[in-house]
Amino acid sequence: MLETFAPIREKIATGERLDFEDGVTLMESDDLLALGELADLARRQRGGGDEVFFIQNLYLNQTNVCRVKCKFCAFAKTQKQEDAYTLTADELAADAVAMYEHTKFTEIHCVNGENPHVDLEFYADVLRKLKAALPEVHLKFYTASEIHHMSKLEGCSHEEVLRVLKDAGLGSLPGGGAEIFADRVRKLIAPGKEHPDEWFDVHDTAHRMGIPTHCTLLYGHVETYEERVDHLLRLRAQQDETGGFLAFIPLAFHPENTVFERRGFKFTTGADDLKMIAVSRLLLDNIPNVKAYWIMMGMPMAQVALHFGANDVQGTVVREQIFQAAGATSGTEQKVGELVRFVQEAGRTPVQRDTLYNELRRW
Ligand code: SF4
Repeated sequence: MLETFAPIREKIATGERLDFEDGVTLMESDDLLALGELADLARRQRGGGDEVFFIQNLYLNQTNVCRVKCKFCAFAKTQKQEDAYTLTADELAADAVAMYEHTKFTEIHCVNGENPHVDLEFYADVLRKLKAALPEVHLKFYTASEIHHMSKLEGCSHEEVLRVLKDAGLGSLPGGGAEIFADRVRKLIAPGKEHPDEWFDVHDTAHRMGIPTHCTLLYGHVETYEERVDHLLRLRAQQDETGGFLAFIPLAFHPENTVFERRGFKFTTGADDLKMIAVSRLLLDNIPNVKAYWIMMGMPMAQVALHFGANDVQGTVVREQIFQAAGATSGTEQKVGELVRFVQEAGRTPVQRDTLYNELRRW
């Protein structure tokens, strides 16, 4: 196995970029410890230290009404379903302010269904009201898919939508909606979703307007290793162009309450989760942060992932609904003290950050 990795190790040691074949070789390996060691080496080689970042953040969803019907989704509802909801800007702002009384989060992360019954003003209004109520809080709102949806609703360009939202208080975009870029997979799991070119155009436009963004990959369903690698290399190419991705977050597919559960799909394994983190770190040599999203992989596995190339455990994540709807059992609130303990017991230095990775506190 060491022999298989020798040329890759050599490239990492000399700072040479890994290619598609290297990515597939890494994905096909079952030598987890070697993968972790290589990924940690790459992370340190590229300037990473012992710091592990987390943020105090609140998760909000404005509406779960969605027209798209992705097959992996357990969150979306149609307008007529009993548990469908669409909150007004005032309701959402009041909720956020009440939560802020309890926990002084520095970021709100908000993603939604693609609701066909609202307009761009619905989205801009909530940003304005939140900015007025909580001016210090960074608003990380709306995936590229939602931005594209708004541009369709409004009949305008991605840039025009982003301009309206930025003026209303938008700080950055979350990375959702990427799923897997390969056409074959997209047709199978998310046939109603926009073409990946639209996803990239939104991020490209945002970066050029000075709006940082995040990026993701949804793995553990029908994709091949080659399609995972292709996805990562497309993200890397975009980052070469515009440099605005703050972090990459691999998202493990949770089949519960989706059509995939009825077809016998299972949760990803710990081995695959760790492999995904390691290979992401190795291939994405230009994206500074790789998150081990504890809400999805569980805190113990996220702790191990810190030795497989991850340098961020996301955040305190008050109230998350999307992975919970699909069967995540990790709970939805990690208090700061608990996160600090997990990071310290992994032998690393906990650093609380803001959305833009400015250090707020270290232990
Ligand atoms: S993943 Fe997003 S776009 Fe797809 S059905 Fe669910 S809420 Fe709608």
